[in-house]
Amino acid sequence: MKALQYTKIGSKPEVVDIPIPTVGPGQVLLKVTAAGVCHSDEFIMGLPEDQYTYGLPLTLGHEGTGIVHELGEGVQHLSVGDAVAVYGPWGCGRCHNCSEGKENYCTNAAAEGITPPGLGSPGSMAEYMLIDDPRHLVPLGDLDPAKNVSLTDAGLTPYHAIKQSLPKLGAGSTAVVIGTGGLGHVGIQIIRALSGATVIALDVNDEKLALAKEVGAHHAILSDKNAVDTIKELTDGLGADAVFDFVGVQPTVDIATASVATGGDVTIVGIGGGMASVGFGTIAYDAALRVPYWGSRGELIEVLEMAKRGQLSVEIETYSIDEGPKAYERLHEGSIRGRAVILP
Ligand code: NAD
Ligand code: ZN
Ligand code: ZN
Repeated sequence: MKALQYTKIGSKPEVVDIPIPTVGPGQVLLKVTAAGVCHSDEFIMGLPEDQYTYGLPLTLGHEGTGIVHELGEGVQHLSVGDAVAVYGPWGCGRCHNCSEGKENYCTNAAAEGITPPGLGSPGSMAEYMLIDDPRHLVPLGDLDPAKNVSLTDAGLTPYHAIKQSLPKLGAGSTAVVIGTGGLGHVGIQIIRALSGATVIALDVNDEKLALAKEVGAHHAILSDKNAVDTIKELTDGLGADAVFDFVGVQPTVDIATASVATGGDVTIVGIGGGMASVGFGTIAYDAALRVPYWGSRGELIEVLEMAKRGQLSVEIETYSIDEGPKAYERLHEGSIRGRAVILP
């Protein structure tokens, strides 16, 4: 089968021919219907050898949907032909967090060498994909795979981040979304659907700012040195009740911590390496800082439910698996509108 793999440190992803995986007891083989391209893929492919821990060759893709193709011995409650979405943050399934469906915070995964598909285990950018356990599949129902595959990360991650801040986003509140790419443009829709907040979106690219407005941002402003002043002007000097940074580089972390209101939340989702350096008197009183990772299985079900009810839609550009390397080039240039999706 064809797969898109990262094969050696510093190289570009390439299309390779590898055997179709065989299904072991308790496993499920999917015929992949769609796979999303995430900025985190670009991040890991940019790591130097001493920091790269995801194995080589790595079949990319941590956003996936598929059709159940074959069931391993003992698998119940699934049938060949079922349309499913892959819950990506695989954990042990037994620890306290996993018991609550929060496998994204599994406390055994590192020690037991359990890794998500596309981030250690073979991912979704292939014609077939092996799922280690049926609990990592969620019914997709009638949702279109290409249009919804990215909800498994670009939907789930902002949903998990935003849900914790909803008590602060009542009527009259303000939320700031920094970076309106794959995650950010879905995040704006989640805030609009679930809260009373006015949304101020920030990006460095005018086309992404236009997309932010299209998907529901009330204000879209350039992410530059004037951004904090503009956010303060738009909030009568108070700042934002919740700031979600979907970039995470030093300039955006600085904007995030400087624009939060008293008692507000700063949530850093982007993995750009920026550091929040805050202490008494350098950030609004009682502000809280969070650095979440991905989301829970229950939250994935909720995000897919939002899509089924027409509350969320992902802007996509589609590519064949042969065109996969081009999708990563466009991601690198910053020219993708919404999310790039590969249809193997
Ligand atoms: P993306 O490339 O689709 O979007 C990034 C956006 O940020 C683009 O619109 C870009 O123009 C904008 N941007 C770049 N520099 C900026 C700046 N200085 N100010 C404002 N905007 C700026 O990326 P994505 O796939 O949406 O991922 C966003 C980030 O979230 C990445 O760092 C990714 O690795 C990370 N991520 C984290 C998690 C998690 O669990 N914490 C999960 C998924 C992705
Ligand atoms: Zn991702
Ligand atoms: Zn666990």
